Amino acid sequence: MTALAPISAAIDSTRSFTGGHACDTSPSAPPTPCPSFAWSYSRAALLDRCERLYYEHYYGSHGGWSAEASPRTRLAFRLKHLTTPTAELGRAVHRRAAEIALAVRDGAPQPTAATLQAKTYAELEAVIMRGINDPAWIANPRRAPVLHEVYYGGMGFARRRKLLAAMNDRASVLHSTLLASPVWNAAAIPGADILFIDESILITLDGVSTIATPDLVLQLPPDRLIIVDWKTGNTGDISQLILYANAVQAALGARYTTKRCEAWMVHLDRTSLEATTVTPAKVEAAAAARRASVTRMEDLLDDPTHNVPRQRAAFRQATDPNQGCRRCKMLAMCSTEFAGAKAA
Ligand code: SF4
Repeated sequence: MTALAPISAAIDSTRSFTGGHACDTSPSAPPTPCPSFAWSYSRAALLDRCERLYYEHYYGSHGGWSAEASPRTRLAFRLKHLTTPTAELGRAVHRRAAEIALAVRDGAPQPTAATLQAKTYAELEAVIMRGINDPAWIANPRRAPVLHEVYYGGMGFARRRKLLAAMNDRASVLHSTLLASPVWNAAAIPGADILFIDESILITLDGVSTIATPDLVLQLPPDRLIIVDWKTGNTGDISQLILYANAVQAALGARYTTKRCEAWMVHLDRTSLEATTVTPAKVEAAAAARRASVTRMEDLLDDPTHNVPRQRAAFRQATDPNQGCRRCKMLAMCSTEFAGAKAA
């Protein structure tokens, strides 16, 4: 195997969205520059779910890590880092997949199922058993998140223990499927290269900063490029992988755009692999969807050059609060308005 392509070669400077514009416009807030803008699939998915959630996640919480920020911004930042058991299980299994990929790339023995299980259990235990009085969560919610169920539902110790056991069982199944995945056979073909392992690629597409984070990118002889995405739950959209393929090929340069590119979505919960060839027509369809999403995001800005959002009220709340709000991490940011609407 040859050495990894340096990620810095793939990073492109993009149009600048940073500046001295205050993002938190509440009177008590110090001027916090707005965050830089980069389109991503997950950003688009959040906007599709609820405009207000999108606002709180990307703008309302910005700067909330600082003790200088307003209480509102600090609360939004804390809520942004609430998590769920399923999300934590998915993250842990993705870390195990990256560890296996590193071993394969370096010609080292693959970690055993027992090693994977022990690591995942320890990571899940740390999050699931953490309470809202935990000093680590109080000090840094990004590094030490708590469960949505614990923050909003007050899930007690015994139920969390039970949940941990259930998640550990699910992890065991996912690890078995992961270790047996055909991806590793492909990666072991003589002349194969692993080009990216769970790295964020920042690239300019159609003039807009775009982030793609493929789980794994393989190059197989003589001219195949494979974009791999591990799925640990029911959801999965192959168009996400087409976008990743577009970003990967653009980042790697002309030598790679002529390769036959495939997208592999590996469903670890049901032992299946969904594969598709990346064609120019599919890339164009995905690019059109991405451009429409960027336009929608820009329409929610007062100043697109500096990524300054419109007022919070311009970001509409979900039309049916009962549908998704109970499970929404930003519920506390909306509860006053919900209470007002109920009283009216
Ligand atoms: S609680 Fe509902 S309206 Fe508020 S941000 Fe969440 S999904 Fe949107």
